[in-house]
Amino acid sequence: MRHLQPDAQQVLRTYLPYLMQELGLERWTIDVRPAAARDGATAHIDVTYATWYAELHIAADWSDYTAEAQRNTLVHELLHILHHPLTSYVDELLDAHGSAPMREVIRTQVEAMVDRLAGIIAPTLELPTAGFREGLEGWLGTRFTVDEVIDSVP
Ligand SMILES: [Zn+2]
Repeated sequence: MRHLQPDAQQVLRTYLPYLMQELGLERWTIDVRPAAARDGATAHIDVTYATWYAELHIAADWSDYTAEAQRNTLVHELLHILHHPLTSYVDELLDAHGSAPMREVIRTQVEAMVDRLAGIIAPTLELPTAGFREGLEGWLGTRFTVDEVIDSVP
């Protein structure tokens, strides 16, 4: 597993809490981990709604993405938190009464919805630019929990 590049760590440490606040996710703890993204995706998120905890997995080549793509990706992944109670319930129904094709249709539809919403919401938010990062240094760490595991993952 590759390290995230240092500038990617800095972006995530400062920018992710800003997005969390904007989307009403201040109570959440989100650990950021480098990962080979699934299915060629830039990122994915594993959500544990009951404890307000999520692991956000970011592709190792994250720094190569444009600021716009980073913003869109993070908003997309955070939106997955918001619909998680609904889709968890649907998953339970599918476990009891569903089929693999039904599960795939719902998964595809949820992804399409989240993509569409991210495309609408992301442009209303700041980009993760250098100036933005500097402006946030002062208040980060006091209001939010973005785990230091970013540094410690091998
Ligand atoms: Zn998604």
